[in-house]
Amino acid sequence: MAKKDYYEVLGVNRDASEEEIKKAYRKLAMKHHPDRNPDNPKAEEHFKEAKEAYEMLSDTQKRAAYDQHGHAAFESGGMGGGSPFGAGGAGAGFDFSDIFGDIFGGGRGGAGGGRSSVQRGADLRYNLEITLEQAARGTETKIRIPTMEECETCHGSGAKPGTSPTTCTTCAGHGQVRMQQGFFSIQQTCPRCHGTGKMITSPCKDCSGNGRIKQHKTLSVKIPPGVDNEDRIRLTGEGEHGANGGPPGDLYVVINTKPHAVFQRDHNDLHCEMPISFSTAALGGSIEIPTLDGVATIKIPAETQSGKIFRLRGKGIKGVRSSSHGDLHCHVAVETPINLTERQKDLLREFEAINEKDNARHNPRAKSWMNKVKDFFAQ
Ligand SMILES: [Zn+2]
Ligand SMILES: [Zn+2]
Repeated sequence: MAKKDYYEVLGVNRDASEEEIKKAYRKLAMKHHPDRNPDNPKAEEHFKEAKEAYEMLSDTQKRAAYDQHGHAAFESGGMGGGSPFGAGGAGAGFDFSDIFGDIFGGGRGGAGGGRSSVQRGADLRYNLEITLEQAARGTETKIRIPTMEECETCHGSGAKPGTSPTTCTTCAGHGQVRMQQGFFSIQQTCPRCHGTGKMITSPCKDCSGNGRIKQHKTLSVKIPPGVDNEDRIRLTGEGEHGANGGPPGDLYVVINTKPHAVFQRDHNDLHCEMPISFSTAALGGSIEIPTLDGVATIKIPAETQSGKIFRLRGKGIKGVRSSSHGDLHCHVAVETPINLTERQKDLLREFEAINEKDNARHNPRAKSWMNKVKDFFAQ
């Protein structure tokens, strides 16, 4: 599929200022936002296009590359896989950093390695499990992630203190070598120095010549209220280190909500089962039910059937991208009593005997179902 021109997508001139680009993007994002256009793949498509165009044009470096080479500038770029967490980047989740500008940094992805060996670090993904309450109210948490830090002994050079890396003899410091294959001459990354142009003759003991040491770092992550599963929070620059002076990747914290004992979430609505005794169902009564902000009382009218849903407006979750709260849906489940005493059984037998006399009146559904069954066998 041919990609649309980023400037056309945003509807701005090629010499548009950063401010104009931002404004155009916000306008489009508001208009095509999936929350405002549920089940509208076209709007989603527009939204994604605008987001991509904005990501590219709001980054001076990328914009310059795009102005010069068009979409080709980004084709070889790509996000590397980051080992402990898997590759970040792709996915259906929504990237909050676009809306919560505070952590919106330099943006992602340089335009691929190309001939130079400067490479942007891989994006990382961290799966963060939180409770439903934390998702609803927002929270701040600390995560511990492995990281490769500069080796203190050799200050990242990889060479034993007192020595220094020497120029690679295979490529004479160019980092690239030419190989002759038949008629073709192919330029490749030097296999000896891996493109650095330098050789370490006496490697640092602490890092085995890598210049980096595996350590852990603790990061504070702010979870905005209303997040849902698969939502992502981007921590700019907290991904893997870049190679040879390249910028670091980003860290994506992906939300995963633990199952809740009482509530099931569906977007911004909550659902819960509400078991009631069959006498309450028949006679009516009131029942206390938990909500995320305290206890609420529901009046059960007489003759309430199993499966009836009581909706408590605004007792759901306020989504991170919506302006109002969802609802709480309480699904009635009439419970058949168990462990009955002899007296209770006697009363029910008596009840049933009276009931039988006018079954159609007291149990219309059972009666009509029986009739249908009769008709079925009579065919
Ligand atoms: Zn070292
Ligand atoms: Zn070399």
